[in-house]
Amino acid sequence: MQPTRLAWLALALVVSWSSVGRCSTVIHAGRMIDGRSEEPLLQVTIVVDEGKITSITRGYVEPKPGDTLLKLTEHTVMPGLMDMHTHLQSQHSKDSYTERFFMEQADYALRSTVYARVTLLAGFTTVRDLGDNGVNSVALRKAIDQGWVPGPRIFTSGKSLATTGGHADPTNALRGDNRRDAGPLEGVINGPDEARKAVRQRYKDGADLIKLTATGGILSMAASGQNPQFTEEELKAVVTTARDYNMTVAVHAHGTEGIRRAVVAGVDSIEHGTFMTDEVIQLMKETGTYWVPTNMAGEWVAEKSKEPGYFPEIVRPKAAAIGPAIKETFIRAHKAGVKIAFGTDSGVSPHGQNSREFELMVAGGMSPMKAIQSATLEAARLLKIEQRLGTLEAQKVADIVAVKGNPLENIRLMKEVDFVMKDGVVYKKP
Ligand SMILES: [Zn+2]
Repeated sequence: MQPTRLAWLALALVVSWSSVGRCSTVIHAGRMIDGRSEEPLLQVTIVVDEGKITSITRGYVEPKPGDTLLKLTEHTVMPGLMDMHTHLQSQHSKDSYTERFFMEQADYALRSTVYARVTLLAGFTTVRDLGDNGVNSVALRKAIDQGWVPGPRIFTSGKSLATTGGHADPTNALRGDNRRDAGPLEGVINGPDEARKAVRQRYKDGADLIKLTATGGILSMAASGQNPQFTEEELKAVVTTARDYNMTVAVHAHGTEGIRRAVVAGVDSIEHGTFMTDEVIQLMKETGTYWVPTNMAGEWVAEKSKEPGYFPEIVRPKAAAIGPAIKETFIRAHKAGVKIAFGTDSGVSPHGQNSREFELMVAGGMSPMKAIQSATLEAARLLKIEQRLGTLEAQKVADIVAVKGNPLENIRLMKEVDFVMKDGVVYKKP
């Protein structure tokens, strides 16, 4: 036989062997929420091949020889959950204000792998990471993508942008000789030119999107939790530069004026939005701006503000006053029909408890189905990845999670995710 014919025969054998021998994962789902439909489907077979969903069929289809069958017939199966507001680098404690003087970057990085793991095992296969010390979440994203550690798919902003003395100025309240004049490299800007430079620096750092703090915040060592901290020109400069690099912009904001300016500048999402007026809600509906409510963060800081000595005295009154206000805002803004994407601010509250947010959303008037959609299709839309993630449909990436029972009847079940698949790989099985 001629060498070329031999090569062709060998190739043909390899091709036929791989198509015959390819093993699929077959899931029998008792109930399926696909992320898009208003009603769940009952008794469905989902076939997963090489990290993708290849088919979804009514009824329980028998697997082919060699396939792996996963029986989730008493479960509700749904798309991998997405949390649009996390901080995987840290988890708030009494020591948070001092640990930054003692922890090395490597300490942060290693500890964040623990938080990434519990987040994934809680059913969150994708997160936005909205603010770290500048390098940690990028390294964590790489470690997860390389398969070095288990964790969710990360879209990170890197270091948040702030103005001098603003919510994300890393030098706030330091002793005079340590209180340097931070600049765009550290994410602190004053004026449109520095705003543009800070965005470009995040691109250079490897960030996926931009986060900025348009108003004061609760946990920073500064007096106001809600005053506007960016000018309209600065916001506009951030947004237009971010677009040059195909980045979206997420904006931390509690006070009305800061929210209004950010929405007018064309940002993609408002985080917290605690003091949104009806007028601002209307504006957000017109511009299609997403709201990421983070009810959990409000609940957590309000609770901790009652614990004597937990917060520094400059933080405590802000936590007590701003935290509880989110409840009423959620009821009002949800009723008004603003676009909502799921987010928890985990890292303020402990990682892995993200699904508490579902309970708070449902308590605020949202249907369980809409709450789940806010953490699947709506979140994917905010990330602009809805072509490949956010729903259970043929050709989508196989990010699939499940809970036993019916979360549409009892939303608390979302806290008991006991099946997690990401990119077709099973991380947790009942
Ligand atoms: Zn946050």
